[in-house]
Amino acid sequence: MRKPIIAGNWKMNNTASEGAELVKALKPLVKEAKCEVVVCVPAIDIPAVKKAIHGSKIRLGAQNVHFAEKGAYTGEISANMLKEYGVQYVIIGHSERRAYFGETDETVNKRTLAALAAGLTPIVCIGESLEEREGGLTEKVLDNQIALDFQGIEDFSKIVIAYEPIWAIGTGRTATDEQANETIGYIRKRMKKVYAGKNVGKMRIQYGGSMNAKNCKGLMAQPEIDGGLIGGASLKPADFAAIVNFDK
Ligand code: PEP
Repeated sequence: MRKPIIAGNWKMNNTASEGAELVKALKPLVKEAKCEVVVCVPAIDIPAVKKAIHGSKIRLGAQNVHFAEKGAYTGEISANMLKEYGVQYVIIGHSERRAYFGETDETVNKRTLAALAAGLTPIVCIGESLEEREGGLTEKVLDNQIALDFQGIEDFSKIVIAYEPIWAIGTGRTATDEQANETIGYIRKRMKKVYAGKNVGKMRIQYGGSMNAKNCKGLMAQPEIDGGLIGGASLKPADFAAIVNFDK
């Protein structure tokens, strides 16, 4: 059995004090959660949110990590720096980072290996654009990301993949339950083939892309979908809690 994991991606929203208020409101709403609950917050919010989640089921995540252990990388944050603050998860290769900040499959792979080496759980984002889906290229794009982003990983039970069709992120346009299930099933099958013998069967794959309080039940009922990476709806405690409590 793969334990479902619901993670919020706050992106560049919430100051530290706003973030602390948000999780204080969230805490009582998710206290019965059966899934893993994660909030991936802006790096500067980490200390305040860490304090605010104390004693709850909410776990702390970051939104990016540098691949070097330390050194002359102005503005960057290393895996050990995150780890020391109690961060347990880190989003890697989000499509916004790929589109706006020069993230490539090579750097996604390097960041993933660095996160694993520090004992963080990477949440690695993959997915196709609208043109690629409409051009019938979805599997080809995923095959390429699968081949490049995960090289050198020995134990896939320690990572989470977020399948995020780019056309569904922040657009209000969600993949249908069947589309998401089918594509995630494809990713799992392909990963099992490419990384045979490396615990792929235990790896969780989330769906991400306009998941909300209304559509979460249908998506989470799909056998291949092990959770969600939630953007917009993670900024509202009641909406995020409704997703976390999808099984109620
Ligand atoms: C995301 O940013 O990972 C995401 C899924 O955003 P949204 O839920 O807003 O589409």
